[in-house]
This record gives sequence, structure tokens and C-alpha cells, in this order.
Amino acid sequence: MSFNAEGILAALRSRGLRITRSRRGIMQALFQASRPLSLTEIQGQALIEGGILPDYATVFRMMILLESMNIIHKVNLKRSCSYYELTDPSRHHDHLVCTDCGEVLLLSIPCPVGSAERLIEQQYGFTGLHHSLEFFGRCAACSARVNPAGGQQPFVAQPIAA
Ligand SMILES: [Zn+2]
Ligand SMILES: [Zn+2]
Repeated sequence: MSFNAEGILAALRSRGLRITRSRRGIMQALFQASRPLSLTEIQGQALIEGGILPDYATVFRMMILLESMNIIHKVNLKRSCSYYELTDPSRHHDHLVCTDCGEVLLLSIPCPVGSAERLIEQQYGFTGLHHSLEFFGRCAACSARVNPAGGQQPFVAQPIAA
């Protein structure tokens, strides 16, 4: 199976799934995404990509199926709903999440645990190892809002008048 929208749709078809416009839209939404998406976001993006709004149950069932096939995985963003992204190793990114405003950035630095993953594969004989790594903190904009002086105490004591 090639890791692109057409390759995955072909794999789904060989499992007996009918490739409808909404399923194609869902797949395109996952490949267009620049960050992990919630079910509602996948639904909305599939409408833009496929020109048809898939019903929520269709999105949900497709995510379950794709997860069981190791094509997508859940990403923990410390929010109440689940977020999904593709597991494609060639597109692998770890995440930087702001706990104040919820912004999600994809890290451009090399994956800090990629070499550990290869060691684990060798030592434990696992194949197809993958992971989702999230760093949580306060983004630059939120930090500036919380502490505009940039780390210094904003309160400056006034000298007592003589
Ligand atoms: Zn923020
Ligand atoms: Zn990683």
C-alpha cells in the first residue's frame, strides 16, 4: 500500500468498502491537514475537499477502521475530544501544544525519539513502530500576554517620599 490518498482508498476498496465522495473527501482532508484534526474538523474539511458533507457516523467509523489499519493514530492534545493524524513515517512530526490558547505547532526539529525507536525495533523485534509525541507549554504570544515584561516583575516599587 502506498501512503497517499489513492493508495489508502485502494486498500479500503480491497477490504470491500465502497469509495464514496465523502470517504474520498475524508481521506483528502487527512492528507491536506497541517495539524491533528478532530472528528468535527475532519467532517468540515471533507466538505471542502470532497464537496459533500459526510455524516458524523461515517467519519467516526472510517477513523476506527483507519486506526485499526495503522494508517492514522490519535494525538493527545489534552482536550475533551480525540484528534487524529496520519502515521506516515515520511511525514512524521512531533507536536508543540500551547495549554493556554490551544495552538498546535508541528515541530521542525528532528524527532527526538526516532533513534530510540530503531533501537527498540532491533532489541524487541517489533516492526512498524510509531509514536505520537506532544510537548505542552505556553506559546510565545500567551507568555507575553501573561507576563508583558518578559520575565521581569512588572511591579516597580516607588521610593518612599521623604
Ligand atoms: Zn498560546
Ligand atoms: Zn517523533
